[in-house]
Amino acid sequence: AEAGRPPHVAMLVTPGMGHLIPLAELAKRLAARHGATATLITFASTASATQRAFLASLPPAITSLSLPPVDLSDLPADAAIETLMSEECVRIVPALTNILSGLKDTTRLVAFVADLFGADSFDAAVAAGVARRCLFFPTNLHVLTLILHLPELDASIPGEFRDLAEPVRLPGCVPIPGPDILSPLQDKSNPCYRWMVHHGRRYRDAEAILVNSFDAVEPDAARNLRTPQPGRPPVYTIGPLIKTDAADATDDKKEPRAACLDWLDRQPPKSVIFVSFGSGGSLPAEQMRELALGLEQSGQRFLWVVRSPSDEGAVNANYYDAESKRDPLPYLPQGFVERTKEVGLLVPSWAPQIKVLAHEATGGFLVHCGWNSVLESLAHGVPMVAWPLFAEQRQNAVVLSEGVGAAVRVPDTKRREEIAAAVREVMAGQGKGAEVRAKVAELRKAAAAGLCEGGAATTALDEVVRKWTGGGDE
Ligand code: UDP
Repeated sequence: AEAGRPPHVAMLVTPGMGHLIPLAELAKRLAARHGATATLITFASTASATQRAFLASLPPAITSLSLPPVDLSDLPADAAIETLMSEECVRIVPALTNILSGLKDTTRLVAFVADLFGADSFDAAVAAGVARRCLFFPTNLHVLTLILHLPELDASIPGEFRDLAEPVRLPGCVPIPGPDILSPLQDKSNPCYRWMVHHGRRYRDAEAILVNSFDAVEPDAARNLRTPQPGRPPVYTIGPLIKTDAADATDDKKEPRAACLDWLDRQPPKSVIFVSFGSGGSLPAEQMRELALGLEQSGQRFLWVVRSPSDEGAVNANYYDAESKRDPLPYLPQGFVERTKEVGLLVPSWAPQIKVLAHEATGGFLVHCGWNSVLESLAHGVPMVAWPLFAEQRQNAVVLSEGVGAAVRVPDTKRREEIAAAVREVMAGQGKGAEVRAKVAELRKAAAAGLCEGGAATTALDEVVRKWTGGGDE
């Protein structure tokens, strides 16, 4: 009788649209290809309107459940986001155990999947008797390699990463200069550093690690992580999993078609640079002004998702709710909007990013290097200007610009001439820009091929599901 019921997968989504979107996409693939059903388990702290609309738009095979609120009031007010997420995942273990036990009674629960900050929640799966525990890693193999090596790096590197004279060299990875290493590792006295080292250990409790990347972007890292190693779970690259659903509630809110797409319709092919910093990123006021002037100076058309500026040190202030707090327009340079009204369009807070990237008028993406955005750009063959902010974004910028060659990076000084030059290079340059555009066209094909029948990503996920359903926990 069990075999007749659809396999069910429970997924814990740590806060952030950047975690929710690819996990939901994984659930959709499991439903469409493997006839599975899924429950997305979310945190009460992230019940934003954007998130609710997104969850409501998912197909009926995917349901969602919110965990009860978690009290984090004992943590310092300036606790890092990584610390908050990690603490939340420990504190929800009892509630999650109940949810998983309930799902076990009512469904054929074959696996529990947690994302990158959620390995501690495996305790709930063990307590509830769920046989298979997997980690879903929404970012790339370079970051995974680093986190898996953290316990030993912690022992071998006494000082701060940013003070290292030499870049950090790890198997299969592009050497990463110390200051570009993952931001939560940059201050060892901050509890979030300890948390990341802890996660590096706990990842080993997973039965498999599913990574939202594909071999062509980081071939050596893929080769290395696929070589079996005692004590390290098998790694499957199943990406790029990106939002595919045309009728997506978060894209369109209540309007039938966003006005920025109508604007794009009126622009020449590949003439527009799309500028966006993800679901939570915003710039310090000074950089925001310089970006405006740099875009203007580049002479390129632009579509810019503008958010009100962050105060220094709080670049991810919008992280938990994806909505701009104040009207951003007053922070732009005097006369900018008027001067650029023929070539530029400003969109407050949120744009239908996938549709913008898929539009033929889009020729470049100035991006914060959040991994979902990078994958979306590659899947649509859009070359990038890298402007990393926080988390693993600086590291991603190194991989993209120094490694695979899919982006030109804006120097840290962020002067308007530098911004203009990087934008022009990616859109129309004949040197590095031309190479980047050719590389990205190649990566687009590789990404699509992997997701076809018989492609690497499809085959990898098939193998994971075969283990879940064949091994069984009944
Ligand atoms: N996104 C969007 N419109 C926006 C900003 C972001 O649709 O205006 C989507 C984007 O397509 C991506 C996700 O939100 O799927 C952002 O994820 P990413 O990993 O790039 O960055 P994060 O938000 O985690 O910093």
